[in-house]
Amino acid sequence: MSPEAPITGVRTAAYRVPTDRPEGDGTLAWDATVLVTCEIEAGGQTGFGYVYADSATALFASDVLAGVLQGRDGLATAARWREMVDAVRNHGRQGVAAMAISLCDAALHDLRGKYLGASLSTLLGRRREAVPVYGSGGFTTYAPSEMDAQIEGWVDAGFHAVKIKVTSDLAAEAPRIARARRAAGDGAALMIDANGACSRKQALKMADFAAASGVVWFEEPVSSDDVEGLRLVRDQAPAGVELAAGEYGYDAFHFRRLLEAGAVDVLQADATRCCGITGLLQADALAWAATVPLSIHCAPALHLQAALCLQRLIHMEWFHDHVRIEDMLMEAPPVARNGVAIPEDDRPGLGLALKQADAEPFRIWPRGPA
Ligand SMILES: [Mg+2]
Repeated sequence: MSPEAPITGVRTAAYRVPTDRPEGDGTLAWDATVLVTCEIEAGGQTGFGYVYADSATALFASDVLAGVLQGRDGLATAARWREMVDAVRNHGRQGVAAMAISLCDAALHDLRGKYLGASLSTLLGRRREAVPVYGSGGFTTYAPSEMDAQIEGWVDAGFHAVKIKVTSDLAAEAPRIARARRAAGDGAALMIDANGACSRKQALKMADFAAASGVVWFEEPVSSDDVEGLRLVRDQAPAGVELAAGEYGYDAFHFRRLLEAGAVDVLQADATRCCGITGLLQADALAWAATVPLSIHCAPALHLQAALCLQRLIHMEWFHDHVRIEDMLMEAPPVARNGVAIPEDDRPGLGLALKQADAEPFRIWPRGPA
């Protein structure tokens, strides 16, 4: 008889954390980021997971998923995942529902590790002992000197690659790209991300300029909704520039479409969106079968344990906005040294905990006193 730990409680919350400076990219601007957390109680343990999403995700998990989980075995993560996916059928699985499933799935994996006294990477089986990371930020809202300082900070910390945001305006971006290339120096590769801002023709022109400037990675040159456009840019861009997309993959079917279309040189996946750790493992299997490398998008603390185990992984995004929040509000966030992130010690589960007192001033849901 396998062990069982019936779920006795599911609690969610949302915290709105202002950015340190205004942030923006090719298609969006923001001044705060919302951290949504989940605690799941079972077997005398509390599993903790989080995503970056609107507070509606916390409400959705509480309203729709908590009832699906309550009383069921918290150790049977695969069964709970499938029940959550089935339960959101009429709510629209992509978007908020997928992020709520991601939230609860992460907390369940953490719970299972704590119950069994082992880290997630020990339970899954490690593929590597450290995860290469690249510095990510370089927002379009930064002054040139701010961008330089951020890139130089990553280079000083031993990062081997850095990524900046770009708009669709090549005339404006050419000096930014050249400047970023100088700031990165000889030791770090330069990557750019348009967040879907460009038309196909704009993207091809940008890719030509980027390749000539030593850029090695062009992320989401056109909208990820334009899968054929991604394929076209991938095929026609100079060979030195890899095309990457996948951050809006809310399920395995999105990844399958990108891969079957030959739309990416590198698949990106984000466990805070793609239905959790379980969904991330599916993305890795799809990338394996497509012989395409995999790169993790955002939320590095949440991903680190799973990232140690993925077959196709090449690196993980060390996103300025999220690293800052994880350093502020979490116990034992991972540290990146010499271009890799290594867990600080072998803590069970995901190895994370919220610093509740530090987070409390930012809480926006549930409303009212703690
Ligand atoms: Mg991106």
